[in-house]
Amino acid sequence: MNIFISLDYELFFADFSGSVEKSIIEPTNALLEIVDKFMIKLNLFVDAGYLVKLKEYKDKYPNLQKDYQKVVNQIEKLDRNGHDIELHIHPHWEDTIYDGTKWVMDTKRYRLHKFDDWKIEQIVKVYKKALTDIIGDKVFTYRAGGWCIQPFDKIKDALKSNSIWLDSTLYEGGFKDNSTHYFDFRNIPKKTQYRFESDPTIEVENGYFLEVPISSTTISPLFYIRYALLRKFDKQNHKIFGDGKGVGREGKDNLEMLTKFTPAVASIDGYRISYLQRVLSEYEKYSDNNNFVIMGHPKAQTRYSIEGLHKFLAKNHTKHNFTTYRNEFFEKNS
Ligand SMILES: [Zn+2]
Repeated sequence: MNIFISLDYELFFADFSGSVEKSIIEPTNALLEIVDKFMIKLNLFVDAGYLVKLKEYKDKYPNLQKDYQKVVNQIEKLDRNGHDIELHIHPHWEDTIYDGTKWVMDTKRYRLHKFDDWKIEQIVKVYKKALTDIIGDKVFTYRAGGWCIQPFDKIKDALKSNSIWLDSTLYEGGFKDNSTHYFDFRNIPKKTQYRFESDPTIEVENGYFLEVPISSTTISPLFYIRYALLRKFDKQNHKIFGDGKGVGREGKDNLEMLTKFTPAVASIDGYRISYLQRVLSEYEKYSDNNNFVIMGHPKAQTRYSIEGLHKFLAKNHTKHNFTTYRNEFFEKNS
């Protein structure tokens, strides 16, 4: 089976964005230290809106000039070493300003869909260019910020005209509808890859786009209870490396998670890595088991997750093919 370790390379989006060192650079290096031991390559979905904003402000603020250089250097190095750099869009950067000391985020337009059609086209173009300016013209894969990819019709043309034809956003069972987020993946094909055209939840033979969904499972409320306790009482191992604060979880989501089995992505983030081996075993039994996509965020790593990743790779690196979207799909499809 092909295994893709995919990471959303980004800051936090609530009141505290966190610093580029603690939330991006250092935890990415901590992950590289582990994967390098096994010669495994990562897939990084770079939050390109952040790069666009850094470019906008860097001449005015020397500290942002430094932040920009740090991110660019790391992305260049990742690319040089064979890791895959792909496009992640959080369009609320459009409404974000730098006040001289911190990023002031406005997440009212958290989804790309909140913008006009011409603006969506421009965002995809400019954000993709922020990446290709660094690594050259190789970007072809997309992951929507906060999984908000629907209705796909509205963003389809913008992706197509920018030569983005692979998506890796969906996960089976996913659903969220609140003030910032909307997605509904409750009825997606039970496949690890399929073609689609204007709706990623419906397979269309010979469709322009290829969906390679994030692997998923369901987890019990006990998981979240244990996680909360560990974060409180075993800070040393379970405190996240990132120094910011997240966005998008509301009271009703927490209630769901604490009262019934809920869908969850295969993830290396924090305590989530504790169920990763179980999800892999479930996928090993699938009939369509070409791909296993794991997601994560550098900012959400902990001592526990780094140690868990080490164990996971030691156990599986000879059994499966750890790879990148570029290696598996780009060269074979173009
Ligand atoms: Zn993201």
